[in-house]
This record gives sequence, structure tokens and C-alpha cells, in this order.
Amino acid sequence: MAPSGPGSSARRRCRRVLYWIPVVFITLLLGWSYYAYAIQLCIVSMENTGEQVVCLMAYHLLFGMFVWSYWKTIFTLPMNPSKEFHLSYAEKELLEREPRGEAHQEVLRRAAKDLPIYTRTMSGAIRYCDRCQLIKPDRCHHCSVCDKCILKMDHHCPWVNNCVGFSNYKFFLLFLAYSLLYCLFIAATDLQYFIKFWTNGLPDTQAKFHIMFLFFAAAMFSVSLSSLFGYHCWLVSKNKSTLEAFRSPVFRHGTDKNGFSLGFSKNMRQVFGDEKKYWLLPIFSSLGDGCSFPTCLVNQDPEQPSTPAGLSSTAKNSENHQFPAKPLRESQSHLLTDSQSWTESSTNPGKCKAGMSNPALTMENET
Ligand SMILES: [Zn+2]
Ligand SMILES: [Zn+2]
Repeated sequence: MAPSGPGSSARRRCRRVLYWIPVVFITLLLGWSYYAYAIQLCIVSMENTGEQVVCLMAYHLLFGMFVWSYWKTIFTLPMNPSKEFHLSYAEKELLEREPRGEAHQEVLRRAAKDLPIYTRTMSGAIRYCDRCQLIKPDRCHHCSVCDKCILKMDHHCPWVNNCVGFSNYKFFLLFLAYSLLYCLFIAATDLQYFIKFWTNGLPDTQAKFHIMFLFFAAAMFSVSLSSLFGYHCWLVSKNKSTLEAFRSPVFRHGTDKNGFSLGFSKNMRQVFGDEKKYWLLPIFSSLGDGCSFPTCLVNQDPEQPSTPAGLSSTAKNSENHQFPAKPLRESQSHLLTDSQSWTESSTNPGKCKAGMSNPALTMENET
């Protein structure tokens, strides 16, 4: 548990205020860029009315989308695991009594047997967060800054002072895309005036300095944003989070860096949703509940319900729980099909009915 007391809480408060500095910096920069572009460049320096109108309209469109997606990324609360993943009071007591050992493992195994989880720790144990006292859903990680477990955590971003995860990953991508377009647009339309600055073609007013610095800032941010945006496009195409790109998820059969990849088109739909009209808008449209994800694993985990409700009994009876050499396809997930699946077999998301414990599992706390 975190140390408590007036000193530590004041320090925490102070740290929380400091975390907003990058957001304030971006906001001030954005405000200045508005003044420099819309006022000093378009209204003061442009002589052609047609160019003025076109530039101002396109600029305001990009500015609006940039601010909207940035706002949504900052203020969308990260999603935490649902109550099904939290241990009951009795289970917590048992764990406290048995901090290690087989009894400890048994408690976790029993608590996890009905949960839709496929990933494990490096040692094959169920992923458990000591801090939040819950069994971590797949792709969920504990953020030390937020001090919470975050569903499909990508990373904690200081530029938005928020965790980027299941609830706001789409917004974050759009924020990168629109901020990149914003910078590219400014750099492209400012270029001829930037050249005029160096050839003394601009009147000697303060506007010329805004024009020069605006071009430098736009060009510089374009370079850094394009690399970051390109990297996240690659992550989306592979259905990976930043954390998973650094450390591949571990499944029961072992590490699989493409364990959640369903193919390019379906990977895109996981983040942006099925309806293309929402793809470019910072409106939540990602598929799923953030607690369970379809996989393309080659092995089926016998301790987890993995087949549609109507098929599960047949599959279970016909095999002695050996892993079939076929993938867990999206048909086994409610995320990609309309058919009833194991996650939908219960009214509680995250709970499912079939399952048996796996004695081979070991316990390891993972944060
Ligand atoms: Zn946690
Ligand atoms: Zn965080």
C-alpha cells in the first residue's frame, strides 16, 4: 500500500499538478499557432482573398478536429477491469494467509477458472495485480502513474496526462493524425512566406517573425509526429499495443507476438469499429468490452471457455481437452460476430461458464 500521511499526500498533489505541464505547453503552443496562422499569416500577410478564404476554412477544420481528438484523449477516463476480475473478500483473506505457495496458487486458479483470460505471466502463472487485488484481464496492465490496472493499456502518455488504453486509443490515434495534418498543412501553406522572409519579400512587421517561427515549429513537429503516427499505424495493423511490441504476450502455449492479430482489416475494425462513418471522428467505436479479446492462437486453452455457447459441449465431449490444432477464430468471440459466444453466454461481461482448473499453473505476482 502507498505510504500515507500529510507529507505524502501533499507530494502526490504536487506531482499531479506537475503532470499537467506538458498539456499546458501544448495548449499554449496551439493557441499561439492559431494567432500566428489565422491572424498574422492569413489575415495580415495574405493578399489574395481566395487563398485567404481557402486557407482559413481548411485551417479551422483541421484545428477543430485536432482540438476535439486531443480533448477526448485527455479527458476520457481509462477503463478498469470489471468487478468479475476482483477477488472476493474471502479470496483476499485466503491470499493474505498464504502469501506464497501452492495454496496461494490454488486460490488464484479457482478465482480465474471462469474468467475469459488467455495470457499468463512469463512463468505460466495467472496474471495477478497485488496492488489492485485483481486478476488481470488479457492485455491489461497496472499503470504506476495512475496507480490502477488499465484495460488494453498502451502506454501512459505525458502529453495528454492520461493513460492510453482501450477507452481512448482511437482518440489518441486521431489526435496523432490530425495534429500531423495540422502541422503539414501549416508548413505547406507557410512555405512561400517563409521563403519570402529570407529574401526580404515580407513587409517589416511583427507578422514576419510569427511566420518564420510558425514554419520551424510546424516542420519540426511534422517530423516527430509522422514517425510516432507511422509507428502506431503499424501497431494497429498488427493489433499490438506499445507494451506488447516491447514484450510479447505470453499465452498458455508460450509467447506469441501476433497472438491477437486477426488480419489487417479485422485489426483495424478492432480499434475503429465496424461503421466507417465513425472512423475519422473522435467518437468511441472500438469493438469489444476491453476485458476479453479474440485471438488467432493455434492452441485452445482447455481451462478457458473458448467456443460459442452452442458448440462448447460438443467440443468438450469429443476431445479429452487436448488442444485442437485450429485457431481460436473470431467466431469464438462476440467481438467480431453476432452469434452468441462464451462472453455473451453470461449477462455479466467477462464471466463465462465452462472451464476447468489447470494444475500446471504457477502463481506469480505481476505488476
Ligand atoms: Zn493494478
Ligand atoms: Zn497511467
